[in-house]
Amino acid sequence: MVVRLSQLFLRTLREDPVDAEVASHKLLVRAGYIRRAAPGIYTWLPLGLSVLRKVERIIREEMTAIGAQEVHFPALLPKEPYEATNRWTEYGDGIFRLKDRKQADYLLAPTHEEVFTLLVKDLYSSYKDLPLSIYQIQNKYRDEARPRAGLLRGREFIMKDSYSFDVDDAGLDASYAAHRAAYLKIFERLGLEVIPVTATAGAMGGSKSEEFLHPTEIGEDTFVRSAGGYAANVEAVTTVAPEAIDFSNAPAARVLDTPDTPTIETLVAASNELAPRSEAEGGEWTAADTLKNVVLAVTLPTGERQIVVIGVPGDRAVDLKRVEANIGAFLPVAGEIGLEAANEEDLKKNPALVKGYIGPGLSLDEPVLGLEGSSKLLFLVDPRIVSGSSWVTGANLDGKHVFGLVAGRDFGWDGVIEATEVREGDLAPDGSGPLELARGIEMGHIFQLGRKYAEALDLKVLDQNGKQVVVTMGSYGVGVTRAVAALAESNNDDRGLIWPRSVAPADVHVVAVGRGEEIFAAAEKLSAELEAAGLEVIYDDRPKVSPGVKFGDAELLGVPTILAVGKGLANGVVEIKDRRSGEAEDVAVEKAVDYVVNAVRQK
Ligand code: ATP
Ligand code: MG
Repeated sequence: MVVRLSQLFLRTLREDPVDAEVASHKLLVRAGYIRRAAPGIYTWLPLGLSVLRKVERIIREEMTAIGAQEVHFPALLPKEPYEATNRWTEYGDGIFRLKDRKQADYLLAPTHEEVFTLLVKDLYSSYKDLPLSIYQIQNKYRDEARPRAGLLRGREFIMKDSYSFDVDDAGLDASYAAHRAAYLKIFERLGLEVIPVTATAGAMGGSKSEEFLHPTEIGEDTFVRSAGGYAANVEAVTTVAPEAIDFSNAPAARVLDTPDTPTIETLVAASNELAPRSEAEGGEWTAADTLKNVVLAVTLPTGERQIVVIGVPGDRAVDLKRVEANIGAFLPVAGEIGLEAANEEDLKKNPALVKGYIGPGLSLDEPVLGLEGSSKLLFLVDPRIVSGSSWVTGANLDGKHVFGLVAGRDFGWDGVIEATEVREGDLAPDGSGPLELARGIEMGHIFQLGRKYAEALDLKVLDQNGKQVVVTMGSYGVGVTRAVAALAESNNDDRGLIWPRSVAPADVHVVAVGRGEEIFAAAEKLSAELEAAGLEVIYDDRPKVSPGVKFGDAELLGVPTILAVGKGLANGVVEIKDRRSGEAEDVAVEKAVDYVVNAVRQK
């Protein structure tokens, strides 16, 4: 059916919506694809739905191609399965919770691992039933702290989520590899550039995990890549640590008076004045010689506030996102945490921490004022703090610092954490060269969950030997509505959207320009012929709308080919324009259909 603009439920807008900051959000609203219903919650209009359905179709086809079968779960679920895995608590404020009339707890599912696991447990019991991959394309609900950028970070959004079930690790590897390959195909077909990067598993648990990032300036994720092919989410980058140093001949640590040196800068200046180093000793002191002890406050999922001190080289800043991604292993409970710099009150409660002069203490066995072995405070260090490395750091006394404090001799730590910022030029952990930083949007994420969910929910099958084994699982997500936004974000110009052919709401946008009856008759006929040739056609048949408005709307809507029937008709030609290149050509009316069909087929 030809979509007639005179009939279509559409109102394009000249002005950007006031709450919109990024191009995709502005244009999708202005071009009448979506409409805001509430913060982070959107209504889909006919053109938007058309694009969305095309994205979904591509995803379905590629899921089917790897043998995954579609199911559909409710979005409204009881809390019990999520309690069994502790995610009811771990998600904190991140989920929408509600009660039914009997006061029973429910949630709007943020993701569905639990119920997929239970469904398989319900129906399957033997290794012969596996491997199995099942998926759904469905609404997810997350009460995001900062819903932003329209569809990019919604509170209601559509995700394709699949789950694989295998008897053993080799099976999981194969299911994971199949999904990885399918994801690359999906994004290629969508016309959306993505880079698979190594990721941390975060709140999902499990081991191996990769994200598919679409590179763009407005992305919220920072990732790194090396010329040699290493790519990782910044949270997952591991530091190339120096080798341990023999400290048998290292001089003893000494405490010096360093009044008014509460910052690294003032400390470095004072060090060079009070304890100048010869070239042989390492030359002038720099910030990298100092050990900065950053005090953070973690709010645990239970609401409790825990103080953590992280020791890092003084020339490096702490990256809270990296801390958040990597600190889980050191905390007493799993789940979503809050993280911020400790405040005055936190410091008051811990008088051992003297602001501006905090250090890890002077003795391994008997920490004088320090943090090592202390029961209240967790002390973690950056991987560069290797055994034998020597530092200038706070002496936990006002106006005093300690020089030559040797790691592993004079102080210890509770653990090593990737906490510092990754810098342009840092080395890739796989030896593939210096790193370059870039920003991206997470379009998809694949995880080897392993046995975490199956264990929590007791999903076992009988193996070949008749023994009960815990099933191993993978979980794989694509942001479907986010894909629509990312496509809009990366395909537009100052006049509007420019859809890739694979998802455009139509193949061709026919515009009748002018007033003559013969113009409308010809445009009508061409539209019908294009449709008969198997194309999807939008026809701007609005009788009393000016050519300027019609062309403006055509460019705003972003259909890849625009066919204008106007003055040229008198000479037997129509104008066919490529929305992306802007190139226009006059084509004889009788050849117009073939011309457009070819353009569509080419891509
Ligand atoms: P993010 O880091 O962006 O918050 P996530 O890691 O929480 O995402 P997953 O749980 O891995 O997301 O979800 C799978 C996919 O769902 C993501 O790769 C992303 O494409 C999409 N997605 C996640 N949250 C949102 C959201 N709030 N709005 C739209 N899409 C989302
Ligand atoms: Mg993710």
